[in-house]
Amino acid sequence: MINESDYQDACFNPYLRQNFLDKIKKAGVPEYVQRISYSKKPSLSLFDMSNAYMTTRPLLFSNTFPRFKSEIQVYENAFDTIFHKCLSDFMCTLEDHEFTHAKQFFFGMTVEKYFGIPFKILFNLGLFPDKKIAKKYLFDLQKKPEAEAYKNQLDNISRRNCSLQYALSVGFKYAKYSGISADVEVFVKNSFGELEKKIFVIDKQGDEQ
Ligand SMILES: [Zn+2]
Repeated sequence: MINESDYQDACFNPYLRQNFLDKIKKAGVPEYVQRISYSKKPSLSLFDMSNAYMTTRPLLFSNTFPRFKSEIQVYENAFDTIFHKCLSDFMCTLEDHEFTHAKQFFFGMTVEKYFGIPFKILFNLGLFPDKKIAKKYLFDLQKKPEAEAYKNQLDNISRRNCSLQYALSVGFKYAKYSGISADVEVFVKNSFGELEKKIFVIDKQGDEQ
């Protein structure tokens, strides 16, 4: 069983990270997850994913054609304890978000996700003259699968005991991809800022006691 100190140890010591992920895999993952691998940075340099925490990619030769099992790659950002403050935050990204993408690849639920891969490569090679239009197109392609993954996170967040900051950022991302109006997006962003200030005040008060 994975516990909080396993996670904190893995954050502190990069050499423990693959072992930590192996433990999660061993504890049981869905059939469509073939591997969970630690990698300092994303291995596909064509993609600009310097801020990524984790990604899911279908393994084309996983012997289950036409269904593709996936590899989840987990990057060093996932262990910085800034975004994932605790094990619950980390597991929410891994199991509720990335496993959802693995499921989408396996069951072919989102054609958009498949088109998104070659498109991203072309985009990063600079083969689209208008970057603004290209970015909008890519966003549209990813809207449905991303909204589904963020929705799944929101559905599981209360049972997981995630940090408030993390829960809010998931809410904000869901608002962005689900097509909730821009006004709501601004509202969520502002309340996130306000809550952060309040958390800071509470922390400060706590220190003084
Ligand atoms: Zn995603």
